[in-house]
Amino acid sequence: MPLLANHIAVITGAGSGIGRAIALGFAREGARVIALDVNADGAAETAKLVSDSGGTACSFPLDVTDRAACVAMAKRIADAIGPVSILVNNAGIARRNGMTGAADAVVKDWEDVIAINLTGVFNVTHAFLGSLRANKGRIVNIGSIQSFVHIRQPSSPAYTASKHGVLGFTKALAVELGKEGVRVNAIGPGFIETPLNAATRASNPDGVRLFIEHTPLGRAGQPEDIVGPAIFLASDLSAYVTGSIVMADGGYRAV
Ligand code: NAP
Repeated sequence: MPLLANHIAVITGAGSGIGRAIALGFAREGARVIALDVNADGAAETAKLVSDSGGTACSFPLDVTDRAACVAMAKRIADAIGPVSILVNNAGIARRNGMTGAADAVVKDWEDVIAINLTGVFNVTHAFLGSLRANKGRIVNIGSIQSFVHIRQPSSPAYTASKHGVLGFTKALAVELGKEGVRVNAIGPGFIETPLNAATRASNPDGVRLFIEHTPLGRAGQPEDIVGPAIFLASDLSAYVTGSIVMADGGYRAV
């Protein structure tokens, strides 16, 4: 029996990179996948890729910063598709301005990154909470190495703060919902080659080299490297795991 049979899985930011890979992986394990993304075309393409490979998926546009839209989406999915038992909070953006950069840019980075990477996780989780509680759901939040440390990739204080926040939110929710059988965990990806960092990879090859030299496995990650940890945390394989973060960083944080 596939590991995620009979589950309905919602994945935010599923139109690209890690979210798309998780959508394909979950579908391979039998989940019915709902791909959500602010980029409607990207989400639709993910659903098509799932269908083309024999899985079941649909897609909807959703901006995770729009709390009312998140609530409406949860109702729409409950009415039209069924009870959601897996939520992957994956949507995220990265910005590269340090605190001492131009004031306008620093303020905009803070507002955008916190709104998407942290408040967005709250918005979507809160919207789907009824269904997740009723179905002993599993929540998988995408954190980062920067849930623990700040990395000079360069990265922004907003990004580091948002990913620390995601881990804190993960722990708080795991504690609050544990007795109901709802499990809440995070994944901490290392440097994964996706559109998120394509510009940085192109403009800062020395930074990439330094990062990989620090990484025991000696290579950048691919979106597929996050799929196994996501299936583990969403499935019964991790039945006694909650409030945890699985690092998928090539060993970066061990050094
Ligand atoms: P990605 O390829 O850029 O995919 C992120 C997706 O989220 C994009 O489709 C993006 O749409 C979408 N998105 C952005 N804002 C949104 C919003 N307000 N509402 C809904 N969707 C939104 O990036 P990725 O590398 O796969 O990143 C996925 C997650 O992994 C993020 O949380 C990121 O912080 C985390 N992560 C990535 C790495 C890495 O090295 N790649 C490392 C650690 C953690 P647009 O393209 O239209 O913006």
